[in-house]
Amino acid sequence: MRVFKYQRGNIIISNIGNLWSIRMRASKKAKCQRPNVKCRNAKSRTQDSKTSEIHISGAEGIYEESEIQRITKKYILRALNHSKGKPDRIIITIEDIKEKPKSLLALPVTTVKCKTPEEGKNIVTALLQSSGISKLAINRAFQLIKRGNMRGAALVTAEKGKRLEPDGKRGVRASRLGIDKGASKILSLRLSRRGINRDIVKEALILASKVVSCEPVLAELCVSDDPYYTTGYVASGRFGYLRIPNIKEGGSKMGGRAFFIREGIDVDKVIDYLERTAIIIRKVSSCNGIMSLHEILNHPHQ
Ligand code: AMP
Repeated sequence: MRVFKYQRGNIIISNIGNLWSIRMRASKKAKCQRPNVKCRNAKSRTQDSKTSEIHISGAEGIYEESEIQRITKKYILRALNHSKGKPDRIIITIEDIKEKPKSLLALPVTTVKCKTPEEGKNIVTALLQSSGISKLAINRAFQLIKRGNMRGAALVTAEKGKRLEPDGKRGVRASRLGIDKGASKILSLRLSRRGINRDIVKEALILASKVVSCEPVLAELCVSDDPYYTTGYVASGRFGYLRIPNIKEGGSKMGGRAFFIREGIDVDKVIDYLERTAIIIRKVSSCNGIMSLHEILNHPHQ
């Protein structure tokens, strides 16, 4: 792709190459829970393998062609060294992006003061309720996250707490998302000042910024299924990206994501935006320090 830029009176032609969506998914077959039951025919084998797959890790991003090798290697190493265990299958998908990605502003980042999972649950509940989500829907999301082993996010309606995604095991995967190099540098700098400049934070912020840019989505709740990463988050247009330390006990494999959506919306349109519309973060917002729940509720972002 040739890009014409106007800079201080000169037109610079820079060849930035095509953009590509790179996705990784790693999984392993679960050990048979009932050793006396054998799968004798191909059909039951297929069903068995479908129901007994353990999700190990996933990753996605939009990159320039020159980055494909480096990113693919990084994703494979991540899949092979995940604290949830060794996968027996790693799928890498590399697809070119045909349409021009939509430009987005990243959400502002703040860390909420939180010491225990119990406090974390109360904080999450207060934040989500003040974004218009019912207690019923919040409890439904916590149940799903407690169960864990989802590949994507649950689409939960904000009032009735109904799940709308067509495949409950897979969930919906926010995909085709990235950050441009300039914005990434500024973000790293701002996160570094807060001591939180890690891939896991940057990638989650990009994802959350895309998710809440989808108009029918009111908020997102995330608890990582990495047993040793115990910081979750709530993201919304109202409060931005709020990191919540100690949201679960260290060593726990529970985790997952819920996207809370308005009742009565067109689900296919939401899924199409989240999974298929390409977005690039081109501007970043502030990265704040640690604040109490009270301070955050009294100073909403929108
Ligand atoms: P992670 O933050 O990578 O530990 O992921 C935690 C959980 O979030 C996973 O178990 C999935 O259920 C979900 N998840 C991970 N990546 C995505 C994604 N791109 N879109 C939607 N849900 C995701």
